[in-house]
Amino acid sequence: MCLHDHTSAPTPGARLPRRGILAGAAALAGISVASIASQLGGAPAAHAGDRPSGPNYPGSPLTNPPLIIEGGTIVDPKTGDAVEDGVVVLDGGKVTAAGTRDETRKAVAAVAGRAQVLNASGRWVLPGLVDVHVHANALADARAILQGGATSVRSGSSSFYQDVALAALPGWAPGVSPRMTPAGLFISPDLGDSLLADPDLAPLATLSGGVKETSDLAYLTRVNLSRGAKVIKTRANPRAGLPEQDPRELVYNQEQLSAVVKAANGAGVLCHAYSAEGIDGAVRAGVRSVEHGVFVSENTIAEMARRGTFFTPTMDAITSMATSTNPILAARGKEYTPILQAAVRAAKEAGVTIVAGTDSFGTDVTPIGTEARLLAEAGLSPLEALQSATVHAARLLGQDDVGRLVRGSLADVVVVDADPLTDASALEKVRVVVAQGAVVRNEL
Ligand SMILES: [Zn+2]
Repeated sequence: MCLHDHTSAPTPGARLPRRGILAGAAALAGISVASIASQLGGAPAAHAGDRPSGPNYPGSPLTNPPLIIEGGTIVDPKTGDAVEDGVVVLDGGKVTAAGTRDETRKAVAAVAGRAQVLNASGRWVLPGLVDVHVHANALADARAILQGGATSVRSGSSSFYQDVALAALPGWAPGVSPRMTPAGLFISPDLGDSLLADPDLAPLATLSGGVKETSDLAYLTRVNLSRGAKVIKTRANPRAGLPEQDPRELVYNQEQLSAVVKAANGAGVLCHAYSAEGIDGAVRAGVRSVEHGVFVSENTIAEMARRGTFFTPTMDAITSMATSTNPILAARGKEYTPILQAAVRAAKEAGVTIVAGTDSFGTDVTPIGTEARLLAEAGLSPLEALQSATVHAARLLGQDDVGRLVRGSLADVVVVDADPLTDASALEKVRVVVAQGAVVRNEL
């Protein structure tokens, strides 16, 4: 959430080469990849030993047995259709069938005798949810995100490229991390200890005023891309979650943000922005999504609709400030919440696509269903709230195999206790999470 200073997370003791990042992240959390993998019920431990990973690693990825989830009501977030007493079949990391018992009979027969079977009778079966704004720096963070039902996430930056390393995990150890679209380092004036994330960042230590010149912003963006970032995170304004900062001041103007967008070279840019001026500059610079966006103007909303700019209100991060023990933050939370709710309604009216992002940081994870519920409280219908955490978010990520349960979709499923089409709070009642075909939570 916004209460964290993203640039001063705990630091591993030494500069980490690329291969050291994962070990560093695990060390921070006091756990190892092998121990995580061995805790996963569905994952055989054949390849989960202590053998090192690295270039030309001779081993093969973990695989999971097929999985049948039967008896529940399957919901399609795209259409709002529901199939009662439905069956979902997962095999080889994909959905091989989803529908009525009749429609899935062949696929069920194909895995008979090999499949694990979950009985979801009386419950609702959904695709794995998507959180488009998280900060994960350790395996424990990844695990907490999964437990909340988000099986795909977009990073809002990490401290030492841990998000890039997390992005590689599902290909080897299904269920250890959500599918991650990594952002790398925050494009921000003060890198703090993130300066140690890569030797190529050393030239930026010469800048007395921090990273502000357009050429330096472009350089930092290029370092991120060279390290494997798939999106770029930057800012227009200071943080709301720090009482000593005023989120209505300007950090980067339109010209500076344009330099980031240009250097991103097609990678989507997500921009932390609060003030009307800051948000407008970000949108006109061509960012892919506005994060927070409390004081967005009507003019800018119209421009977002025209350009197809996504809106990530991070409702939980804003509303939760209201209960802060810090009086400045509490006042901010109370002032901002109704303004942001009105912005969500105005954006919806204008046809701006609203997506669900929790701004979770570390293990302080808000379940993605809570964000969907808060979006519904602001004015989205239950189906629209569900779409913000599924098909709309998947479109933002550029992933058409996420956000629905149809043949060929990726093997990510959540099972919830109530009907999300009548009440968005149903998405908070998570019973089962399947990530990359691995059962990572099962409370049936
Ligand atoms: Zn954030």
